[in-house]
Amino acid sequence: MLNRLLGLFSADLAIDLGTANTLISVPGEGIVLDEPSVVAVGERSQRVLSDGCAVGHLARQMSGRTPDSISVVRPLKDGVITDFQLCEAMLRYFLRKVRRSRFNSRPRVLIAVPGSITPVEKRAVFNSAQRAGAREVLVIPEAKAAAIGLGLPIAEPLASMVVDIGGGTTEVAVLSLGEIVSTCSLRVGGDHMDQAIVDYVRRRYGLRIGLSSAEQLRIQIGGAYPLDEDLVEEVAGVDVASGLPRRHTIASEEIRAALADPLESIIDAIRQTVDGCTPDLAADLVQHGMVLCGGGALVRGLDRFLTERTGIPARIASEPLAAVAQGMVICLEHFDLWRSALESSDDNL
Ligand code: ADP
Ligand code: MG
Repeated sequence: MLNRLLGLFSADLAIDLGTANTLISVPGEGIVLDEPSVVAVGERSQRVLSDGCAVGHLARQMSGRTPDSISVVRPLKDGVITDFQLCEAMLRYFLRKVRRSRFNSRPRVLIAVPGSITPVEKRAVFNSAQRAGAREVLVIPEAKAAAIGLGLPIAEPLASMVVDIGGGTTEVAVLSLGEIVSTCSLRVGGDHMDQAIVDYVRRRYGLRIGLSSAEQLRIQIGGAYPLDEDLVEEVAGVDVASGLPRRHTIASEEIRAALADPLESIIDAIRQTVDGCTPDLAADLVQHGMVLCGGGALVRGLDRFLTERTGIPARIASEPLAAVAQGMVICLEHFDLWRSALESSDDNL
């Protein structure tokens, strides 16, 4: 209760700046914004349309259906900012949207970043958030935020494992005594799975489909493990030879075949992470298992697939897409306790 009250007066907020989705959360309130990380820009001006408001859900609706003069783009790729200006514009819009009167005009902002981030990329995160209006920027490794959000006993002297499969990255980490003891950050996620499906359909059926159609196929009928009953789904695209629209029926087994390579990379990342653990910690993993989060955790049968292939029991988080945001809120609500887990823009001056 006291926490809730204090939260109401807090000037802090947390941003899970994902390749696919951005979530903003506030202590005492939880998640207050959840939108796709996309912006619609005019080709010529390279400015965000609708006076800077064609961002998130609004921009997503335009995706794939815009005239040549407009493009819908993501300011992040593979977990890191690729378009600095657009990222800042996106953040500015999101921050404006969640702004409450009780916020300082310049809040302190906590941002989750991939473990593989380079110092230059981290600097881009600090700068983007500061220019979008943050007073101080703190960062936390995504995997650690996820583990906290999932309620794993990371402070204990035993191994906790998280696998966060996002749009552009997969983060695998083993934590013990509050620290990441072994980690592997992979630039493979839902986007690469979708690209693999696009490539498959083109190769096999001479049909060019969009990435969003591929994502639909993956979510509707895709899976990592053979399904009891093969599902089928019709997909529309452009015939490579005739250049005309055509439809084709795709089966879930085909999607599973198309996903084999990206899934294999995830297995490799898990293997590498376990390799970096002491035998005692590795033994803990067999007993306590791993928790899957991020939207990619929802790929059908992934838990069973990973359990069989790695020997480490895998379970899917109850709210996989929210784990990182939830973990960051906990850090802000118990700031004194978690301060040492965070890195500040002020530390780097
Ligand atoms: P990020 O943190 O990189 O923004 P998210 O954790 O938000 O990524 O996850 C986004 C990914 O999750 C996308 O690739 C999306 O296709 C995928 N996803 C979301 N829901 C599902 C689902 N039900 N089944 C399979 N994949 C899903
Ligand atoms: Mg994420």
